[in-house]
Amino acid sequence: MIVFIISAPSGSGKSTLVARLLDEVPSLRFSISFTTRAPRGQECPGETYQYVTRQEFLSAVERGEFLEWAEVFGNFYGTHRSELDRARQSGCDLVLDIDVQGAAQLKSRIPEAVSIFILAPSRQILEQRLRARSEDAEEVIARRLHDAAREIRNYSAYDYVIVNNDLDKSAETLAAIVRAERVRRARMEEQVRPILETFTEEF
Ligand code: ADP
Ligand code: 5GP
Repeated sequence: MIVFIISAPSGSGKSTLVARLLDEVPSLRFSISFTTRAPRGQECPGETYQYVTRQEFLSAVERGEFLEWAEVFGNFYGTHRSELDRARQSGCDLVLDIDVQGAAQLKSRIPEAVSIFILAPSRQILEQRLRARSEDAEEVIARRLHDAAREIRNYSAYDYVIVNNDLDKSAETLAAIVRAERVRRARMEEQVRPILETFTEEF
Protein backbone atom coordinates (compact mmCIF):
# COMPACT_ATOMS: atom_id res chain seq x y z
CA MET A 1 0.00 0.00 0.00
CA ILE A 2 1.29 3.45 -0.90
CA VAL A 3 0.55 6.48 1.27
CA PHE A 4 0.07 9.69 -0.74
CA ILE A 5 0.25 12.90 1.30
CA ILE A 6 -1.19 16.00 -0.37
CA SER A 7 -0.79 19.48 1.12
CA ALA A 8 -1.55 22.96 -0.18
CA PRO A 9 -2.27 26.41 1.16
CA SER A 10 -6.03 26.93 1.41
CA GLY A 11 -7.52 28.04 -1.95
CA SER A 12 -4.81 26.44 -4.12
CA GLY A 13 -7.25 23.93 -5.60
CA LYS A 14 -6.35 20.89 -3.49
CA SER A 15 -9.93 19.70 -2.78
CA THR A 16 -10.85 20.05 -6.46
CA LEU A 17 -7.74 18.12 -7.54
CA VAL A 18 -8.12 15.40 -4.90
CA ALA A 19 -11.77 14.86 -5.92
CA ARG A 20 -10.70 14.47 -9.55
CA LEU A 21 -7.89 12.10 -8.61
CA LEU A 22 -10.27 9.84 -6.67
CA ASP A 23 -12.68 9.85 -9.64
CA GLU A 24 -10.06 9.16 -12.27
CA VAL A 25 -7.65 6.69 -10.68
CA PRO A 26 -8.94 3.36 -9.33
CA SER A 27 -8.02 1.73 -6.01
CA LEU A 28 -7.47 4.92 -4.04
CA ARG A 29 -9.01 5.54 -0.66
CA PHE A 30 -9.41 8.97 0.92
CA SER A 31 -8.33 9.20 4.54
CA ILE A 32 -11.14 10.68 6.63
CA SER A 33 -9.59 12.85 9.33
CA PHE A 34 -10.90 13.76 12.75
CA THR A 35 -11.56 17.45 13.34
CA THR A 36 -12.92 19.72 16.04
CA ARG A 37 -14.24 22.26 13.52
CA ALA A 38 -17.96 22.41 12.69
CA PRO A 39 -19.24 20.92 9.40
CA ARG A 40 -19.35 23.45 6.52
CA GLY A 41 -22.01 23.69 3.79
CA GLN A 42 -22.65 20.32 2.17
CA GLU A 43 -20.16 18.40 4.33
CA CYS A 44 -21.42 15.09 5.60
CA PRO A 45 -20.18 13.63 8.94
CA GLY A 46 -18.21 10.43 8.33
CA GLU A 47 -17.63 11.31 4.66
CA THR A 48 -15.56 14.50 4.77
CA TYR A 49 -14.46 14.34 8.40
CA GLN A 50 -15.33 12.69 11.69
CA TYR A 51 -16.52 15.70 13.71
CA VAL A 52 -15.64 15.49 17.40
CA THR A 53 -15.44 17.81 20.41
CA ARG A 54 -12.09 19.19 21.65
CA GLN A 55 -12.43 16.91 24.68
CA GLU A 56 -12.97 13.82 22.52
CA PHE A 57 -10.06 14.80 20.30
CA LEU A 58 -7.64 15.36 23.20
CA SER A 59 -8.65 12.04 24.82
CA ALA A 60 -7.84 10.26 21.54
CA VAL A 61 -4.45 12.08 21.47
CA GLU A 62 -3.74 10.83 25.00
CA ARG A 63 -4.59 7.28 23.98
CA GLY A 64 -2.09 7.61 21.10
CA GLU A 65 -4.76 6.99 18.47
CA PHE A 66 -3.46 9.46 15.89
CA LEU A 67 -0.70 8.83 13.37
CA GLU A 68 -0.30 12.60 13.23
CA TRP A 69 -2.26 15.60 14.39
CA ALA A 70 -1.99 19.39 14.31
CA GLU A 71 -3.77 22.61 15.13
CA VAL A 72 -4.80 24.47 11.95
CA PHE A 73 -6.72 27.77 11.93
CA GLY A 74 -7.60 27.27 15.62
CA ASN A 75 -9.01 23.76 15.24
CA PHE A 76 -7.50 20.31 15.79
CA TYR A 77 -7.14 17.87 12.91
CA GLY A 78 -5.75 14.33 13.04
CA THR A 79 -5.34 11.10 11.10
CA HIS A 80 -6.59 8.08 13.01
CA ARG A 81 -4.36 4.98 12.94
CA SER A 82 -7.30 2.86 11.72
CA GLU A 83 -7.21 4.67 8.33
CA LEU A 84 -4.00 2.82 7.40
CA ASP A 85 -5.46 -0.59 8.33
CA ARG A 86 -8.68 0.12 6.44
CA ALA A 87 -6.81 1.04 3.26
CA ARG A 88 -4.55 -2.01 3.59
CA GLN A 89 -7.54 -4.33 4.05
CA SER A 90 -9.36 -2.89 1.05
CA GLY A 91 -6.28 -3.29 -1.18
CA CYS A 92 -6.24 0.44 -1.92
CA ASP A 93 -3.58 3.11 -1.70
CA LEU A 94 -4.32 5.88 0.78
CA VAL A 95 -4.66 9.60 -0.05
CA LEU A 96 -4.29 12.06 2.83
CA ASP A 97 -5.22 15.72 2.62
CA ILE A 98 -3.24 17.13 5.55
CA ASP A 99 -1.38 20.32 6.42
CA VAL A 100 2.39 20.85 6.37
CA GLN A 101 2.84 20.07 10.10
CA GLY A 102 0.98 16.76 9.76
CA ALA A 103 2.83 15.93 6.55
CA ALA A 104 6.20 16.33 8.32
CA GLN A 105 5.07 14.07 11.21
CA LEU A 106 3.80 11.40 8.85
CA LYS A 107 6.89 11.48 6.62
CA SER A 108 9.10 10.86 9.66
CA ARG A 109 6.92 7.88 10.66
CA ILE A 110 6.45 6.52 7.14
CA PRO A 111 9.52 7.66 5.14
CA GLU A 112 8.38 5.79 2.01
CA ALA A 113 5.15 7.87 1.89
CA VAL A 114 4.92 10.01 -1.26
CA SER A 115 4.33 13.70 -0.59
CA ILE A 116 2.88 16.20 -3.05
CA PHE A 117 2.64 19.96 -2.58
CA ILE A 118 0.14 21.99 -4.61
CA LEU A 119 0.32 25.76 -4.96
CA ALA A 120 -1.39 28.52 -6.91
CA PRO A 121 0.74 30.34 -9.53
CA SER A 122 0.85 33.60 -7.53
CA ARG A 123 -0.45 35.36 -4.43
CA GLN A 124 -2.83 37.38 -6.59
CA ILE A 125 -4.35 34.25 -8.16
CA LEU A 126 -4.61 32.57 -4.76
CA GLU A 127 -6.52 35.60 -3.49
CA GLN A 128 -8.86 35.49 -6.51
CA ARG A 129 -9.56 31.79 -5.91
CA LEU A 130 -10.25 32.31 -2.22
CA ARG A 131 -12.73 35.04 -3.15
CA ALA A 132 -14.29 33.02 -6.00
CA ARG A 133 -15.04 30.24 -3.54
CA SER A 134 -16.90 32.90 -1.51
CA GLU A 135 -16.92 30.71 1.56
CA ASP A 136 -14.78 32.86 3.82
CA ALA A 137 -15.12 36.25 5.48
CA GLU A 138 -12.60 39.03 4.60
CA GLU A 139 -10.53 38.52 7.75
CA VAL A 140 -10.37 34.75 7.13
CA ILE A 141 -9.12 35.38 3.57
CA ALA A 142 -6.44 37.76 4.90
CA ARG A 143 -5.30 35.15 7.43
CA ARG A 144 -5.24 32.36 4.84
CA LEU A 145 -3.08 34.50 2.53
CA HIS A 146 -0.71 35.27 5.37
CA ASP A 147 -0.45 31.59 6.33
CA ALA A 148 0.05 30.58 2.67
CA ALA A 149 3.45 32.33 2.59
CA ARG A 150 4.66 30.31 5.58
CA GLU A 151 3.34 27.04 4.15
CA ILE A 152 4.88 27.62 0.71
CA ARG A 153 8.31 28.08 2.34
CA ASN A 154 8.03 24.40 3.35
CA TYR A 155 7.69 23.17 -0.22
CA SER A 156 11.21 21.68 -0.29
CA ALA A 157 10.19 18.97 2.20
CA TYR A 158 7.89 17.44 -0.45
CA ASP A 159 8.72 14.88 -3.16
CA TYR A 160 6.59 16.54 -5.87
CA VAL A 161 5.35 20.07 -6.48
CA ILE A 162 2.41 20.97 -8.73
CA VAL A 163 1.84 24.60 -9.69
CA ASN A 164 -1.92 24.58 -10.24
CA ASN A 165 -2.29 26.88 -13.21
CA ASP A 166 -4.45 24.92 -15.66
CA LEU A 167 -6.84 22.64 -13.75
CA ASP A 168 -6.93 19.85 -16.38
CA LYS A 169 -3.15 19.73 -16.65
CA SER A 170 -2.71 19.69 -12.86
CA ALA A 171 -5.25 16.86 -12.53
CA GLU A 172 -3.38 14.92 -15.22
CA THR A 173 -0.04 15.48 -13.47
CA LEU A 174 -1.41 14.36 -10.11
CA ALA A 175 -2.82 11.16 -11.65
CA ALA A 176 0.51 10.60 -13.45
CA ILE A 177 2.42 10.82 -10.15
CA VAL A 178 0.16 8.15 -8.62
CA ARG A 179 0.47 5.89 -11.65
CA ALA A 180 4.27 6.29 -11.82
CA GLU A 181 4.73 5.63 -8.09
CA ARG A 182 2.74 2.41 -8.47
CA VAL A 183 5.25 1.01 -10.99
CA ARG A 184 8.46 1.93 -9.14
CA ARG A 185 10.87 -1.00 -9.43
CA ALA A 186 10.90 -1.64 -5.67
CA ARG A 187 7.10 -2.02 -5.69
CA MET A 188 7.09 -4.31 -8.74
CA GLU A 189 9.35 -7.10 -7.45
CA GLU A 190 6.50 -9.42 -6.41
CA GLN A 191 4.92 -9.08 -9.84
CA VAL A 192 8.16 -9.54 -11.76
CA ARG A 193 9.30 -12.69 -9.91
CA PRO A 194 6.62 -15.03 -11.36
CA ILE A 195 7.21 -13.55 -14.83
CA LEU A 196 10.92 -14.28 -14.48
CA GLU A 197 10.10 -17.84 -13.41
CA THR A 198 8.33 -18.47 -16.70
CA PHE A 199 11.71 -17.89 -18.38
CA THR A 200 13.75 -20.23 -16.13
CA GLU A 201 14.56 -22.79 -18.86
CA GLU A 202 16.28 -20.02 -20.83
CA PHE A 203 19.04 -19.66 -18.17
P1 ADP B 1 -8.48 24.18 -1.55
O1 ADP B 1 -9.08 22.83 -1.33
O2 ADP B 1 -7.00 24.10 -1.84
O3 ADP B 1 -8.76 25.16 -0.45
P2 ADP B 1 -10.42 24.50 -3.73
O4 ADP B 1 -10.30 23.18 -4.43
O5 ADP B 1 -11.63 24.73 -2.87
O6 ADP B 1 -9.09 24.82 -2.88
O7 ADP B 1 -10.28 25.62 -4.85
C1 ADP B 1 -10.46 27.01 -4.55
C2 ADP B 1 -11.24 27.68 -5.73
O8 ADP B 1 -10.37 27.77 -6.87
C3 ADP B 1 -12.46 26.89 -6.16
O9 ADP B 1 -13.48 27.82 -6.50
C4 ADP B 1 -11.97 26.13 -7.40
O10 ADP B 1 -13.01 25.84 -8.31
C5 ADP B 1 -10.96 27.11 -8.00
N1 ADP B 1 -9.83 26.47 -8.73
C6 ADP B 1 -9.10 25.38 -8.37
N2 ADP B 1 -8.12 25.12 -9.27
C7 ADP B 1 -8.23 26.06 -10.22
C8 ADP B 1 -7.51 26.36 -11.44
N3 ADP B 1 -6.47 25.62 -11.85
N4 ADP B 1 -7.90 27.42 -12.17
C9 ADP B 1 -8.94 28.19 -11.77
N5 ADP B 1 -9.67 27.99 -10.66
C10 ADP B 1 -9.32 26.95 -9.88
P1 5GP C 1 -10.42 22.54 6.20
O1 5GP C 1 -10.92 22.97 7.53
O2 5GP C 1 -10.38 23.66 5.19
O3 5GP C 1 -11.14 21.30 5.69
O4 5GP C 1 -8.90 22.10 6.39
C1 5GP C 1 -7.97 22.99 6.90
C2 5GP C 1 -6.57 22.37 6.82
O5 5GP C 1 -6.47 21.23 7.67
C3 5GP C 1 -6.15 21.90 5.42
O6 5GP C 1 -4.85 22.39 5.16
C4 5GP C 1 -6.14 20.40 5.53
O7 5GP C 1 -5.16 19.82 4.68
C5 5GP C 1 -5.75 20.22 6.98
N1 5GP C 1 -6.13 18.90 7.51
C6 5GP C 1 -7.25 18.18 7.26
N2 5GP C 1 -7.21 17.00 7.89
C7 5GP C 1 -6.03 16.95 8.55
C8 5GP C 1 -5.39 15.97 9.38
O8 5GP C 1 -5.90 14.88 9.65
N3 5GP C 1 -4.18 16.30 9.90
C9 5GP C 1 -3.57 17.48 9.62
N4 5GP C 1 -2.35 17.68 10.15
N5 5GP C 1 -4.12 18.42 8.85
C10 5GP C 1 -5.35 18.17 8.32
